[in-house]
Amino acid sequence: MKKLIIAAAMATMLMAPSCSRTAQKAAPDAEFDYHVDRFADIEVLRYKVPDFDSLTLNQKILVYYLTEAALWGRDILWDQNNAANLDIRNLLENIYTNYDGDRNTADFKAFETYVKQVWFGNGIHHHYSTDKFTPGFSRAFLEERIMALPEGTAPDNTAELVEIIFNPALEAKRVNQAEGADLIATSANNMYEKGLTQKEVEAYFESIKKPNDLTPISYGLNTRLRKVDGKIVEEPYRLGGLYGSAIEHIVANLDSAKNYAENPAQKQIIESLIDFYTTGDLATFDKYSIEWAEDTASQVDFINGFIESYGDPLGMTGSWESIVNFKNIPASERTEILSSNAQWFEDNSPVDAKFKKDKVKGVSAKVITAAILAGDSYPATPIGINLPNANWIRAAHGSKSVTLENITQAYDEAAHGDGFNEEFVIDQATSDLLDKYLFITDNLHTDLHECLGHGSGKLLPGVDPDALKAHGSTIEEARADLFALYYLADPKLLEIGLLDNPDAYKAEYYKYILNGLMTQLMRIEPGKDVEEAHMRNRKLIAEWCYEKGKDNNVIELVERDGKTFVKINDYKALRGLFGELLAEIQRIRSTGDYAAAQDLVETYAVKVDPELHRQVLDRYAKLDIAPYKGFVNPVYTAVRDAEGNITDVTVSYTETYPEQMLRYSRDYSGLRKH
Ligand code: ZN
Repeated sequence: MKKLIIAAAMATMLMAPSCSRTAQKAAPDAEFDYHVDRFADIEVLRYKVPDFDSLTLNQKILVYYLTEAALWGRDILWDQNNAANLDIRNLLENIYTNYDGDRNTADFKAFETYVKQVWFGNGIHHHYSTDKFTPGFSRAFLEERIMALPEGTAPDNTAELVEIIFNPALEAKRVNQAEGADLIATSANNMYEKGLTQKEVEAYFESIKKPNDLTPISYGLNTRLRKVDGKIVEEPYRLGGLYGSAIEHIVANLDSAKNYAENPAQKQIIESLIDFYTTGDLATFDKYSIEWAEDTASQVDFINGFIESYGDPLGMTGSWESIVNFKNIPASERTEILSSNAQWFEDNSPVDAKFKKDKVKGVSAKVITAAILAGDSYPATPIGINLPNANWIRAAHGSKSVTLENITQAYDEAAHGDGFNEEFVIDQATSDLLDKYLFITDNLHTDLHECLGHGSGKLLPGVDPDALKAHGSTIEEARADLFALYYLADPKLLEIGLLDNPDAYKAEYYKYILNGLMTQLMRIEPGKDVEEAHMRNRKLIAEWCYEKGKDNNVIELVERDGKTFVKINDYKALRGLFGELLAEIQRIRSTGDYAAAQDLVETYAVKVDPELHRQVLDRYAKLDIAPYKGFVNPVYTAVRDAEGNITDVTVSYTETYPEQMLRYSRDYSGLRKH
């Protein structure tokens, strides 16, 4: 996974803000309303862009043009997701805005929910499950509303669109990964022409790949495959090619942006991206990616293009997305301090000396403030990104790892008062501790995990890095988590100024065990096992510590009024257990001890206690916490003088979810024929 997507369970675990002086974030703003909309399984929030006003005018203008370039790509993604998406959106919005009847009827309310779901999914499929949405209104209602549309505004293919909306057999799943199915023929995305088969597509890519290429391009990243005269051809997304009319606007805004670049290297990056959009040449994309990965000096940064390939069942074609951001300098000091102390952490870990690195280098990661989310990163958004994706570029030129802290802060503050603490946390004192220290210790846990945990330790000579096979990623995540957990309680963090209270770590310890033993089960369907590697790793650690600490009652499960609560009686002993397990997991990894890995995973990480599971699901259901969350963007306005020069850029946060979606459709429709 290149993207760290926040899971709903984790989002609700990030709780109230801390007032520690080390928490480098704005004080909670009682005036700011994070809650924007709630429908189906979705909650829409808004986020703040703190310190936008501290940017120079040049930087603000740069951000402004980059956000414009970001918004112009929206329709590309909609069309990539499904060929009917733009026509359906046009039809739905036409009905939605022209409706003059009672907005409180069951049919209209269901229609409105459907429109909001389609906006959120960037099309007719759910953004996460990729299943097609089922309308809650009748076909008769929709047909009646189509008849009532202003003369000549219903599209010619209306009957076909209505059939796609209501016939569950048509376009059923955007990305089908089911084993044994023809993944191309059965997926509803528009990256491959209808009629192509998986066999044909795989054979095509096999035929164009160069053997023994050490610097391969990302084949198929920016193309749609179709058949011409019985032969497969790639149609590139580029100026003058597929999506050219939207790309024209993206390029025009990048062209304006480059005049405000912070330095020559950044200007070069923007020029390379324009070159790529102009030619569609993937070697140029690699050149751009290398320049981008190597630029760590600029404060403003952005991604814009065909990046992640989760939208293609074969993982070839990139979905269009953009995120514009700027570095949060004080918060980034946190990761820089950790990186500069990397050797101390390595030398002092509870791991056997022969498994330690003599020379360790911390990964430099930065904390950023997102200024706009677009394409595949909107409205649902990642909280962390690690790019570029090409392995050879990562190895030779490094990668950038970023945390979107104004997004995690919005999750955190929006979750305040959602009832989670009252339902699941054992007592008021623990709840207060979480309110005060969870935000900062949770961020610090992520920093330790990413900057130091994964990079620590070494394999013994001759050990195959893939020796742990299917259990490899669970063990690797456990190793990084344990490294972070062990050090969160270390006085070193106070000494280097990252924490200001020796008890702060207890907030993260409590949350981690509660999540691993209980609350993460809300994401598992009844009767199913835990499968995902991160969830397995958390369960492994929590269950192992629960069992090993039983004799000394380190962790206790307390029953109260038929509800189970986690109680931690001895935090110091719990730290000792984390250290012990870290040493063992590092031994397993360093020696490639597959049998021991399998034993740990099978004993602690997979099987769910059905009664506890049922209880967690029931308690969650009562809280009505939306399983999925996303965001509306702020609105940027360029203030111009009489000559048209930009003299300032202002930011506002008042737009509603429908207002924003309708405005984007009106002002940034690069592909729709009017
Ligand atoms: Zn990890």
